[in-house]
Amino acid sequence: MLKIAVIGAGVAGLSVANLLARAGHDVCIFERNQSIREIGAGIQISPNGFCVLKELDLSEGIILNSLCNNSILICDYQDGDRLIQFNQKSVLGNKNFRLIHRADLINLLYQSAIKNKVSFNLGCTADAQLLSDQYSFVIAADGAHSKTRYLLNPYQNNSKRSDYFAWRSIVPNQIDHHNGVRITVAPKKHIVSYPVRSREQLNLVLIQEADNDEIFEWGMNENPKKIRNVFSEFGGDLKDTLGYIETVQKWGLSSHDIPFNWARKNIFLIGDALHPMLPFLAQGANAALEDAFILAKLIASNDPSGVADKYVDIRKPRLIRLIKQIKNNAWKFHLENSFLRSCAHTGLHFLDKTFPQSAGLPFRWLYNYDITNL
Ligand SMILES: Cc1cc2nc3c(=O)[nH]c(=O)nc-3n(C[C@H](O)[C@H](O)[C@H](O)COP(=O)(O)OP(=O)(O)OC[C@H]3O[C@@H](n4cnc5c(N)ncnc54)[C@H](O)[C@@H]3O)c2cc1C
Repeated sequence: MLKIAVIGAGVAGLSVANLLARAGHDVCIFERNQSIREIGAGIQISPNGFCVLKELDLSEGIILNSLCNNSILICDYQDGDRLIQFNQKSVLGNKNFRLIHRADLINLLYQSAIKNKVSFNLGCTADAQLLSDQYSFVIAADGAHSKTRYLLNPYQNNSKRSDYFAWRSIVPNQIDHHNGVRITVAPKKHIVSYPVRSREQLNLVLIQEADNDEIFEWGMNENPKKIRNVFSEFGGDLKDTLGYIETVQKWGLSSHDIPFNWARKNIFLIGDALHPMLPFLAQGANAALEDAFILAKLIASNDPSGVADKYVDIRKPRLIRLIKQIKNNAWKFHLENSFLRSCAHTGLHFLDKTFPQSAGLPFRWLYNYDITNL
């Protein structure tokens, strides 16, 4: 039995702690907040993340608390006209692609950690270097602004600028939103919407590309009027939906190059601490679940130096491919040039009428990957 410290009680920290505790280790999570909490927002759990939750025996709880993402609908912003809609099931088989409230996901992971006898040190800002002398392994799941990433990579450019802002809000579901994710695209902006909690609420993620010199630690409250103003050119039923926003939080998005050092001695990076990414493919938490699974598996069967090499070998090619795909999506979603936009939209209309499922095919490598089968 190893003594293992985990820094951070987000999706990454809670999942890796659960997996290690189930393998019989003595795991303690250090969380700087006084309680385990999540902001009011939704999260998409794609099949590649779901298979790790299944491994934690959480599939039933997740399914009970979530909706199935039946299809993806892409719309134009002006009148909300449909560009293409494709069914997920025909591409993914019967795999689970779920839409859940973040607080429900975190609560399920937290309850499971309690059951698995993970101990918690809440209200404690931890220092990986200090912990590394006291524990066999220290897993830093300390999020996008990870101090441990800087500790392990002091010479790497840590610029946090991303030139994207995101706002997140949950509103009452007063429109006829389909059971799935809708992406409404505009020049330099897009809105992602999907129902959560028995379709009673709609989760909104609003993204704007703009110079961003401000660094935000985490969510800051924003005036809803400002949002309605920034997204005022969006028509269709989204316009009404923006009218229901009462509370909304702003985020300066971070994305870094994958750091050179993923581990030092017995300290390991995981989740956003390792790879903060733009939310253009809804994969940050899913990738964190994959990291958690593989790191827990390697720790159970190896010495720290062997763990580090294998961890990088297994995760790096997939993460590099993912980040490339995210950049590609960022460009496509925010097309500014009117000629290019019109060509792209004509292409999507054509696909919608002929073979809409083909739009989902390029993502099979991502969603159909089951890390628990490695
Ligand atoms: C707008 C938006 C939408 C998104 N939608 C999706 C989606 O649909 N699907 C998806 O998969 N991903 C999505 N993501 C990404 C996803 O939210 C993150 O990748 C994921 O939550 C990261 O989890 P984490 O555990 O690595 O980090 P975090 O959730 O940030 O957790 C880090 C924890 O560490 C704690 N901490 C930090 N430093 C210390 C310290 N020194 N000592 C103790 N505790 C510390 C923090 O308090 C925090 O609790 C989205 C992101 C954004 C911005």
